Amino acid sequence: YSGKKTSQAISDNIAQMIVKDFQSIPVVVEESMTVYDAICHMFLEDVGSLFVVDKQSLLSGVLSRKDFLRTSIGNQDLNKLPVHMIMTRMPNITYCTKEDTIIEVANKLMSRQIDSLPVVKKRKDGLEVVGRITKTNITRAFLSLADDHDL
Ligand code: ADP
Repeated sequence: YSGKKTSQAISDNIAQMIVKDFQSIPVVVEESMTVYDAICHMFLEDVGSLFVVDKQSLLSGVLSRKDFLRTSIGNQDLNKLPVHMIMTRMPNITYCTKEDTIIEVANKLMSRQIDSLPVVKKRKDGLEVVGRITKTNITRAFLSLADDHDL
């Protein structure tokens, strides 16, 4: 392989990387869960963000570690406060679909300065959460390139 062929092969490979092949399982909670329980859930599930769904199981919010820190240093009873009071809510949620490219996702993560996106399926009445893609998944995609090309 010449260097030119190799870099062409790498860029073809990058352009073809799609969410479906690198996404993780989403961790989802209901709007009525207390902040206290959601913090426990985040620890137990070992994730950096939780997705919130409404009664119809449609995406309604996102919760990050910073949302929990902000709430915890306030003077609120975390056992009485439901997560829907503190979450980032629709329509302000950045998301992707499983057919989107990893490059599109990386661009969204960087431009919005966030760590993860819900992977959604569009329904008539809203968005169904089918996956999660994070900076860790992007790093894994990056490493798969190194593997594929013996870097
Ligand atoms: P952390 O709090 O661990 O730094 P993020 O940088 O992902 O995590 O979150 C920063 C803020 O952006 C939080 O208020 C969070 O609710 C919000 N946020 C996280 N992910 C999304 C998303 N996909 N769409 C919109 N807002 C988001």
